[in-house]
Amino acid sequence: MTSARPFDPRRLDVQAFVLAQGQLQGEWPLAEMDRLQQDALPLTMASPAQSVLWSAQGERRAVSGGEPELRLRLQARTALSLVCQRCLQPVTVGLDVRPLIRLVRGEDLAQQLDEQGGEDVLDASAALDLRELVEDELILALPLVPRHDVCPLPLAQADLGADADGTDTNAHPFAVLALLRREGSKGN
Ligand SMILES: [Zn+2]
Repeated sequence: MTSARPFDPRRLDVQAFVLAQGQLQGEWPLAEMDRLQQDALPLTMASPAQSVLWSAQGERRAVSGGEPELRLRLQARTALSLVCQRCLQPVTVGLDVRPLIRLVRGEDLAQQLDEQGGEDVLDASAALDLRELVEDELILALPLVPRHDVCPLPLAQADLGADADGTDTNAHPFAVLALLRREGSKGN
């Protein structure tokens, strides 16, 4: 049996991990992802998932006449209970991200390539906190305006009310959003 060197996902030697074509997977409690919870619209009390399932895999691709290309394949999924911006009832939002990140040597090069766009690029020479990276990706995947595909409550009454007296009784959706954000950050 070969004794694979254990990799620490919170302080990953990402270059060694990818060169070894390593694999890691696990589960992190949602409660530890403060930034995700703050960026999400207020979570309702019972989120369907209490954790984030994740996996990481190092991929090395041979390049003829050059250094091999190194990539980190991440996968993470969870489900949050957010507030629907149409009916203000809880809505379950599933998040499932699968970024493929190219690794290069040196922060300058990583930044330069990242700015060119097209690919996520990271500096392979720095230790990587996979949990932070997973959290970043989940934040990017949050819906701008969470809402049900079909709201459980009929909205016709609200619309009729607006028509009847000729004024729009519905708050502007972004005003509601801003209000919820303020209320959400108050408690923290
Ligand atoms: Zn709804």
